[in-house]
Amino acid sequence: MKTHISVIVWNEFQHERENPAVGAIYPDGLHQAIASALRRTPALPATGTATLEVGTATLDEPEHGLSEARLAACDVLVWWGHKAHDQVDDAVVERVQRRVLEGMGLIVLHSGHFSKIFRRLMGTNCSLKWREADERERVWVVEPSHPIAAGLGEHFELPAEEMYGERFDIPKPESTVFISWFEGGEVFRSGCCWERGHGRIFYFRPGHEAYPTYHDANVQRVLANAVRWAAPRVNIVDSCPMSPPLEPIAAKAGGFARVGIVQGKGDIE
Ligand code: ZN
Repeated sequence: MKTHISVIVWNEFQHERENPAVGAIYPDGLHQAIASALRRTPALPATGTATLEVGTATLDEPEHGLSEARLAACDVLVWWGHKAHDQVDDAVVERVQRRVLEGMGLIVLHSGHFSKIFRRLMGTNCSLKWREADERERVWVVEPSHPIAAGLGEHFELPAEEMYGERFDIPKPESTVFISWFEGGEVFRSGCCWERGHGRIFYFRPGHEAYPTYHDANVQRVLANAVRWAAPRVNIVDSCPMSPPLEPIAAKAGGFARVGIVQGKGDIE
């Protein structure tokens, strides 16, 4: 297991600068609140004791702060986006996808369900029901043995959040760690895990910008656990090579493979 995990917290960083009410909750931006929580929250035995080295990146930086070199050194990327999904460059999305397939972890938060990178990796619409009505959210831990649930009780509550309701149009999660219940009656798969290529992906629902959700100790615990869970186990750059045989292959009567080549387009002599 790695002793250091390099984390980038990415944020579009729009609401905090445009809406004073949001800026009052996150004066330095959601990304800084999340990053400092990750630095402060101690590791638990269930997720290993690797030290987190946490940096940030935002939409307005060149290449959105996600250059080839920076992503190559990144173990886990945390993603918060909402109103500017369309402004994320497709080349950067492609680069992030490739790094996930190589082994980088990706944590997608809240409205990131509609981000280009999440929809691309899921292959579905990722749509859901929503409502902004200051509702109580009760997050149920349905897989208490999962490392992302370490240190949590049977459930925890957020006094006010945006509602997200089923059906959430995602591929069937490989693990569903949390299910949320909302005051208005809906439920939602709010903590879901997948693997794509060699990388691990975790989607975590809470985190509407108008509420102090990322200041909540249970939410901070989930994020600290998730980053350690998603850390790469391998880093494998993709290739698709012609493979020479390990041992001599006996000649076959009829030479089927060669006949196939000859009967093809004649591109191999
Ligand atoms: Zn929201």
